[in-house]
Amino acid sequence: MVTSVVDLRSDTVTKPNEAMRAAMANAEVDDDVLGHDPTAFRLETEMARIMGKEAALFVPSGTMGNLISVLVHCEIRGSEVIVGDYSHIHIYENGGISTIGGVHPRTVRNNKDGTMDIDLIEAAIRDPKLELVYPTTRLICLENTHANCGGRCLPVEYIDKVGELAKKHGLKLHIDGARIFNASIALGVPVNRLVKAADSVSVCLSKGLGAPAGTVIVGSKDFIARAKILRKTLGGGMRQVGILCAAALVAVQENVGKLEGDHKNAKTLAEGLNKIKGLKVDVDSIETNMVYFDILEGAHMTAQELRKKLEGKGILVNMKSSSRIRLVLHYQISESDVQYTLACFQQALTGAPDENNGK
Ligand SMILES: *Cc1c(COP(=O)(O)O)cnc(C)c1O
Repeated sequence: MVTSVVDLRSDTVTKPNEAMRAAMANAEVDDDVLGHDPTAFRLETEMARIMGKEAALFVPSGTMGNLISVLVHCEIRGSEVIVGDYSHIHIYENGGISTIGGVHPRTVRNNKDGTMDIDLIEAAIRDPKLELVYPTTRLICLENTHANCGGRCLPVEYIDKVGELAKKHGLKLHIDGARIFNASIALGVPVNRLVKAADSVSVCLSKGLGAPAGTVIVGSKDFIARAKILRKTLGGGMRQVGILCAAALVAVQENVGKLEGDHKNAKTLAEGLNKIKGLKVDVDSIETNMVYFDILEGAHMTAQELRKKLEGKGILVNMKSSSRIRLVLHYQISESDVQYTLACFQQALTGAPDENNGK
């Protein structure tokens, strides 16, 4: 019988801890649609300060944060946004920028490290002289860390260069910073510096930071004023939302410092997995809290079979293909969970005796 679960499916699976629950129980609240919920106001003020932007807005999810941001920058129909072909916005958000916003995506190839080549971005910008046939490029989106590229960090020099390119062509720059704090910690660059070139950033509170729900978008006062109207339009205006913001404030205060431990655990896990016969991990590419690995043909096991075996031991993983699995570390996974996980992988792949299932 499995008693404890090591949930490595995502860093979204964290459960609010005692401090968050206490803060939620005691949160001072009011109707945030009619005016200001005081706790939401505190969170937004704090996030604007941390991110080095004029203003901030709490929204229900990262998807809505990205959607609102893109729509504010691309208000005019027939706008085009340059996005990575592996980006969350392009792949995992139901195409909302098009279906809801009427914004056309122009994809540029994501390199393995999550960047897009600057010359390819520049080549994708439409010539305004041909507006009779072309959509009008208005925005570039970056993702940091880049989830589909293994949680890789975009360096500050790169972001600055994309920012300069955007300026040169009169475009805006949005960063999907769902895990921007992971990037900041891994790069050793203050988060406000890392997003300096961006006109807007969306920051997930319910990923590695561990809040139960919510994202904050940051930008200029004017950007946030327009974002607030769109949030209402999309049904994201919430009343006593301070209940959620209280937990998020605890998450921001207490958990940013814990991300470094997650990165260390990811490295340990990656190195351990790479030593197991039948598995292949690009250990050098592990920069933050994600570990993608491949199951080699010699292992004679599909990702589905391996996932099932691990599940029997209380280890939950995220299948990416028939031979690829993703593991994500977060602050509710301890070093001993990592050791237990490695032992279970070893057993699953080498068929060492299994005391839970003595067939
Ligand atoms: C999780 C995530 C989002 C937003 O997802 P929600 O589930 O809507 O909160 C956006 N971008 C990236 C890179 C993400 O990982």
